[in-house]
Amino acid sequence: MRIKLKSDKYKKARGGPSKLLSIKCSTCKANLFFYQKDGPGLLKRVYLDRIYKPVIDFADTLKCSECNKVLGTKMIYEKENRLAYRLHVGAISKSVSK
Ligand SMILES: [Zn+2]
Repeated sequence: MRIKLKSDKYKKARGGPSKLLSIKCSTCKANLFFYQKDGPGLLKRVYLDRIYKPVIDFADTLKCSECNKVLGTKMIYEKENRLAYRLHVGAISKSVSK
């Protein structure tokens, strides 16, 4: 799958390279979506504008489409006034996608 990574002010603010992560449910291992991670650091929240396929409905809670486990809670990252999901600890697993 070809996904063109976004390059915008948020990416510039993070510095460092971006990578594409494949996000899975920790509970049932279902593939959830691809995610662009900008810069270094832990994945504590996922920004809505960085979630790639498949398109998910941006409900107030992020749930696994397979097992329905709640994975995260919608929030606004105030420093950037940017919508995100705060991930619950251990709810997802990730691997680098090429
Ligand atoms: Zn699941």
